[in-house]
Amino acid sequence: MELANSLFPNCMICGSKSKFLVLKDGFKHNICMNDKCLFIFVVPVPSNLDKVYSSYPNVCIDDLPIRQFHAGIKMNKNISFSINLINSFKIESVLDIGSRNGNFLLAMKKIGRVKSAIGIEPNTSAWQYCKGLGLDVRHGFFSKEIVSNQKFDLINMADVIEHVTNPRLFIRQATQLLNQNGLILIRTPNLSSYWSKITYKLSIVLRLPWSSLTPPEHIYNFSKNNLTNFLESESLEIQSIYFEPPNLLYELGQLHLIKQYRKERSLGRAFKFLVGFSAYTLVFVFLKLLQPILQENFSQTILVKRVSDSQY
Ligand SMILES: [Zn+2]
Repeated sequence: MELANSLFPNCMICGSKSKFLVLKDGFKHNICMNDKCLFIFVVPVPSNLDKVYSSYPNVCIDDLPIRQFHAGIKMNKNISFSINLINSFKIESVLDIGSRNGNFLLAMKKIGRVKSAIGIEPNTSAWQYCKGLGLDVRHGFFSKEIVSNQKFDLINMADVIEHVTNPRLFIRQATQLLNQNGLILIRTPNLSSYWSKITYKLSIVLRLPWSSLTPPEHIYNFSKNNLTNFLESESLEIQSIYFEPPNLLYELGQLHLIKQYRKERSLGRAFKFLVGFSAYTLVFVFLKLLQPILQENFSQTILVKRVSDSQY
């Protein structure tokens, strides 16, 4: 009975039973059996994540500190959105959980002119890079103690919540660090996007790995609906939400087709590589053309505040 529970744990969000969905890179992924939820997660939760994040060279993914491209501040949508927030809500203190190359904190300090900007980063090379930029970044995983229980007007967590072993505890602790009317900005992939839905079908038809899953780093894979339900169950209310398209090169990398071809330089592997890359690129271009009318996209950023703050 205990073994069955560990293989088919209940959904962390709605409590429904889960069933096996797919294997990716040797990690089992279950899906919540509630049709309105469909939360997808790694079973069992990977251990030794401390080791993965303290030394893993690719933890910063889209903007690696090691690439040293940091000539200026890279203004992605997440940063420009936050700067608008700072200007309209008079935000003075910011916490950035998962600071990576320090881009967000730099922008908050330089452009947003906030008075206090603190970061947390478990990856050693990224943390050292941030320190080199003169930023106040604490080395380690998020806890209230690492920032001495200080409170903030805005907490940013871009591409973080899908990595943590207990998202409920994580969000609860972050909420406790909010000042009155404080805001949390959460960015994470959206598995109910057309990109994820179509590439899932492709993965079955073409027998490819599904690029939307990236274990062991991504443990919990949210959709717009189940993320909203999850945050609302923690007494947070949605203020706004926006979407961004996927990064095609990153998604192609998650198919591991080049790696497989290098391992076995056969005609079959070369054909699979060509078919896989072409199919993914076609879907990407097709969705790019439809982007103006798409309701959702692959990367979702949700702004929330505590329900109890709304009465003020
Ligand atoms: Zn569920």
